Amino acid sequence: MLKQRYIDSNAAPFSKVVPTQVASPYWVAFNEALAEQINLPHRASPELLAVFSGQAIFKDTHPIAQKYAGHQFGGWNPDLGDGRGLLLGEWQDNRQQLWEFHLKGAGKTPYSRFGDGRAVLRSSIREYLGSEALNAIGIPTTRALALIGSNEQVVRETTEPGATLLRVTQSHVRFGHFEWLAYQRDEKALKHLADFVIEHHYPEAALQELPYASLFELIVKRTAKMMAYWMAYGFVHGVMNTDNMSILGETFDYGPFAFLDTTKMNAVFNHTDQTGRYAFNQQPSIAMWNLQKLAQALSLIVPEEALKRALALFAPRCDEQYYQLLNRRLGGNLQQPIPPALCAQWIELLANNHLDFHWYFRQLSKLELNQWETLVDEFTDRDAFLAWNKSVQPYLEQDSANRLTQMQQSNPATVARTELLQLVIDAAYQGDFKPFESFYAALMSPFEERPQWSQWQQKPQNIDQHISLSCSS
Ligand code: AMP
Ligand code: MG
Ligand code: MG
Repeated sequence: MLKQRYIDSNAAPFSKVVPTQVASPYWVAFNEALAEQINLPHRASPELLAVFSGQAIFKDTHPIAQKYAGHQFGGWNPDLGDGRGLLLGEWQDNRQQLWEFHLKGAGKTPYSRFGDGRAVLRSSIREYLGSEALNAIGIPTTRALALIGSNEQVVRETTEPGATLLRVTQSHVRFGHFEWLAYQRDEKALKHLADFVIEHHYPEAALQELPYASLFELIVKRTAKMMAYWMAYGFVHGVMNTDNMSILGETFDYGPFAFLDTTKMNAVFNHTDQTGRYAFNQQPSIAMWNLQKLAQALSLIVPEEALKRALALFAPRCDEQYYQLLNRRLGGNLQQPIPPALCAQWIELLANNHLDFHWYFRQLSKLELNQWETLVDEFTDRDAFLAWNKSVQPYLEQDSANRLTQMQQSNPATVARTELLQLVIDAAYQGDFKPFESFYAALMSPFEERPQWSQWQQKPQNIDQHISLSCSS
């Protein structure tokens, strides 16, 4: 049922690994919408439960752990690879598009190092809801097809129930795959992987004079787009190591991620990140740093000048798309958009007045233009807000219905906030998955407000009381 092109074309190093089954697996979630999107005929059946919990494998397939390396917190680590996840194979949809099925929490592999190969229910719930929430907003991301709970006891800071998550994306190739091959000085293998990636994911690069240079340029552009989204939507990834960077420019490897609550530009949620390397406002420059590492790896097969030219596209691309997104979110005219400086001033207003990142975008989306100034009472620095409001008004879309639609369709009413995810997790750990279901439904229609979702859509309380998040998931 699944194809195995990664094995068939020997795209890059891997090890065949049989999953280690978890104890007493049960369905937490099956993503019907995604299953439909990729034309999967299956539903949450006992057969799928067996495969997605590591008890069985699809007929005639060999799950594999991929080998890669990477820079973690700036330091080189050659010893990485899938330590607790296995690529089961690729599903082909009705449009001939292939989707990789990756089972996270499937047990030890040759790359597990000191890890147990497991994932806990807490972090699996966070990834399931987090990745699907980003997707619903329109932020490039891997997807989650299924979440299976288990009675497996997994030791982290405390002992927690285990889980497996079925992640879906068109490619699991990371920057670190290329870094590993370059570290081996294996030019032939680098070209082979680049050819594989071009054939399956960037066919337009094959038509260019320098296909590998073109591939890198396309990766730069996709990464810049992802950064623009993260920054415009207040998303903090938390562990932007090069082994967590997808060559598709998708949000990848959900660990200690968080959406901002109070707007704090240097916010850090990963408590192991003591220097703030991966703080909210550091993300674009870290993405650039990571792209430079990828460029170094590719320098064995791409002329340096071409790599430099491509890298130079990153910052302007990221800025351009960031301000486009902010213009849309602020109700700006699409032809004559709000000047970047005024968009930036809005974010500064939120930060300087210690206001929630998401709430006020949504509030503006509900007001007629001549009502915007009624928000002034929320701002400590009233004059700054009034001055900004006056300056921005001429650039706003004047057709009221158009503007309200534009704003309400780009400013989520439901955000996968850490505190709300934790409410869901706490209930799940008591055996109650109703909050999970309800929050999931609200996150899937993030631009809609409904009375039954009020718990997820109210103005955030206790917004500065952050739950500290760890990498150990
Ligand atoms: P991450 O911080 O999730 O990007 O993981 C970094 C590396 O550690 C990757 O090679 C993972 O596969 C591996 N890893 C993370 N958690 C575990 C675990 N519980 N067991 C085995 N390997 C793990
Ligand atoms: Mg990782
Ligand atoms: Mg991870």
